[in-house]
Amino acid sequence: MNQPRGTVVIDTERCKGCELCIEACPPDVLVMSTEVNETGYRYPLLQSGCTGCTACRMVCPDQVFEVYRFDARGA
Ligand code: SF4
Ligand code: SF4
Repeated sequence: MNQPRGTVVIDTERCKGCELCIEACPPDVLVMSTEVNETGYRYPLLQSGCTGCTACRMVCPDQVFEVYRFDARGA
């Protein structure tokens, strides 16, 4: 039941640090880094529990996220 249902790949160098994704993530599994990218912005990091809902991808103005969903049924 607690198996992750999805994951995201985060292109940290594209991020502008707006934090919209942090607010948008329903299970609250994105946190901002303490490090900055080469442009000087903090960026999101994924903690466990992603559902693959795509909310972060939809809200991000800079196409930082790729979302993958695991097929729990193995179909
Ligand atoms: S896909 Fe959904 S659950 Fe996963 S990090 Fe993005 S907003 Fe959060
Ligand atoms: S919404 Fe996109 S640009 Fe804004 S902090 Fe999140 S990943 Fe970075």
